[in-house]
Amino acid sequence: MKAGSENEMLTVRDTSTEAAVNLFKQAAVVPGVSRKERPVAEFIKDQLKELNVRFYEDSAGTSTGGNCGNLIVFPNHVELTKPVTAFLAHMDTARETAQTVIHHENGKISSDGNSQLGADNRAGVALLLWYLRELSGKNHPANIICIFTVAEEIGMLGAKHINTKRWNIKQAFVFDSSLDPGHYIADCAGMELFKATFKGKAAHSAVSNGSGISAISIAARAITEMTKHEVKPGMTSNIGIVSGGTATNVVAPECTIEGEVRGFSEGDITHILTTYKTMCSDAATAFGGSVSWHSEVDFVPYSISPDSDLREHLTACMIAAGLKPVPETYSGGSDANAINAKGIPAINLGIGARNPHSNEEYILEQDFRSMIALINELHKRNYQIS
Ligand SMILES: [Zn+2]
Repeated sequence: MKAGSENEMLTVRDTSTEAAVNLFKQAAVVPGVSRKERPVAEFIKDQLKELNVRFYEDSAGTSTGGNCGNLIVFPNHVELTKPVTAFLAHMDTARETAQTVIHHENGKISSDGNSQLGADNRAGVALLLWYLRELSGKNHPANIICIFTVAEEIGMLGAKHINTKRWNIKQAFVFDSSLDPGHYIADCAGMELFKATFKGKAAHSAVSNGSGISAISIAARAITEMTKHEVKPGMTSNIGIVSGGTATNVVAPECTIEGEVRGFSEGDITHILTTYKTMCSDAATAFGGSVSWHSEVDFVPYSISPDSDLREHLTACMIAAGLKPVPETYSGGSDANAINAKGIPAINLGIGARNPHSNEEYILEQDFRSMIALINELHKRNYQIS
C-alpha cells in the first residue's frame, strides 16, 4: 500500500472516531436514570431525524413503571422476512449524569471526578448512533436493527420485554461491557435474588421474663449457617441487606435478610437457594418463630459455545478489525442475558467503558476507534447470517 493511501485511510478512521466521540459527549450528559429515559430517547430521535429510519417504541415503559419504552430503530432497508441482527445499548445510567463535567485530554474521556461519566452505557448508545448515521444504509445495507433499551441497570427490565419474534431477531450484540474491545462475554453467570423475613415475638427487653422471641437472633443463626455453607467454585453468594428491630428496649419482632446467588448453572443456583431456605426455616423453628421466603430470577446464565455461528462470526470480524478476540467468563449480567433467555444467542461486547458507575469512570478515544472498526466488519459481513 502506498504511503498516500495509508494516510488517507487513517484520516477517514479518525473522522469516524471524532464523530463517535462527539456523539458520546453529547449523549453522556442527557438526563436518564432508570425509568426516566425519555430525554435520551428524544435525543436519539433528534440525532437520526433526517435518516431513512423508522422508530418503534414498545410498551416496556408502561409495564415497568417508567416514562419510556425500548426504542427500536429500524432502517427502512431492513427486511424482516430475513434473519435480523440486533445491536443493543441501554439508555439508562445508574446515576444521574446531567451535571457531569466532561474532561477530554490526551485521548482519555472522563468526568471531573465528581460524578459518573455515563460511559455505561452512553458509549454504547453513541456507537449505535454512529452506526445508524454513518454506515447503516451504505455499502451493501445490512439486516441490522438497533435497540435502545430501558431499565437495564435495575434488572434488564427493558430487554426482558423485547418481542424478538416481531423483529425476526436471530442474533444480537450488546455494546455494554467494561472489558476492553476484543474481549467479549462468552459465558455469563445468572443471578437469583432471595429475601427471608423472620417473625419472632415482641416483648420488653428487660422485664418480659424472656417471653419475647428475637427475630434478629433467628436471622443471625440463619446467616451463620448460610455463610458457613460453601458454594461451588465459580459461584458466589452474598447477603447484602439486613433490616429489623424497632427499639433497643424491644425484643425484635421482625428481621429481614436479602441476598443474591450467582452461578453458571440454573440448577446449581436453585440447589443453593433450596438449602438456604431450609436453613432459614430450621433457624426459625429452633427459636419458636417463623419465616417467609421469597426468591426470584434476576437473570439467567448464558453460554455461547466456541463452535457456534455467532462466536465464529464475531471472531472473524474481530480479527478483520485488527482486534484480538478474547472470550471471557463473567459474573455481571447485561441485556445479553435477557436476550439469551429468549432463545436468541447474544454476546455482550467489551467497549472499554472502565470503572462503570464510579466517579473514576472513563473511556479512551482508542476504544471508539476499535469499536468502529469492529462495527464496520459486523456490517460488512452481516450477509453471513442472512
Ligand atoms: Zn451497562
